[in-house]
Amino acid sequence: MELHGLLDKLKLDYLGAQLDAVCEQAAKRDLDYRAFLTEALHVEYRGRRHKGIETRLKQARLPVGQTLESFDFSYQPSIDKKVVMELASLAFVERGHNAVLLGPPGVGKTHLAVALGLKAVEAGHRALFLTLDELLTRLRRAQSEQRLDKVLQQLTYPKVLILDEMGYLPMSRDEASLFFRLVTRRYERASLIITSNKSFADWGEVLGDRVMATAILDRLLHHATAINIKGESYRLKEKRKAGLMGKSPLKSEPKEAA
Ligand code: ADP
Ligand code: MG
Repeated sequence: MELHGLLDKLKLDYLGAQLDAVCEQAAKRDLDYRAFLTEALHVEYRGRRHKGIETRLKQARLPVGQTLESFDFSYQPSIDKKVVMELASLAFVERGHNAVLLGPPGVGKTHLAVALGLKAVEAGHRALFLTLDELLTRLRRAQSEQRLDKVLQQLTYPKVLILDEMGYLPMSRDEASLFFRLVTRRYERASLIITSNKSFADWGEVLGDRVMATAILDRLLHHATAINIKGESYRLKEKRKAGLMGKSPLKSEPKEAA
């Protein structure tokens, strides 16, 4: 069998596609056999890794452009960057622990949650981004179509499930109980990253039922890192910069020279 046929049989597609360039480079750099083999296998490895990331990225449905690198920590001093970086190391994902980001609108909760999801995808984990509203719609529909068990099972596959905007809409009793079942399924197996504009003390109200809220919080927070962001909306900063708004009512904005 000739070389291209072998590469094809072995499914070394990326090496196959770049074979001429790889050989040419090896000749130019006068590589020994071992170095050449390493280089050739690297080409295949990089190709597959990239493809894997692309596929998982599509499945994850993360909003684009919200990365850890583009997050301005200096604007939000209440966030301990060390804690975020520890989360970004993804040790919590390996352990199936959770992360909860709390704070008022616009302070970067979603941005950080998405940025962590992206790190997870890049590291080879499956992730999925849903607003809490989307999640509840899915679960309600599944229940009415007698597919709840299957859908709950599907929602345990992603190693990282990001649930955005807990607390904007109160849940009915049934919804809280569906949410409870999801949290129980994933408990100690796969991570949840939840963002909320409500403090834990107010979750009872959001979940419509204090007993249910306690049961949910119990599992959610057993192994969890909570980041409580106290600060000003980044959206307001951008509007103010564009001259669309007056001075901040909060005193956190540094005084500008006249
Ligand atoms: P929240 O989810 O807390 O309401 P978002 O994460 O949606 O807020 O942030 C609002 C917008 O501001 C987004 O476009 C986000 O990328 C941006 N943003 C928020 N905080 C920062 C920050 N510290 N550095 C850079 N961009 C930020
Ligand atoms: Mg948000």
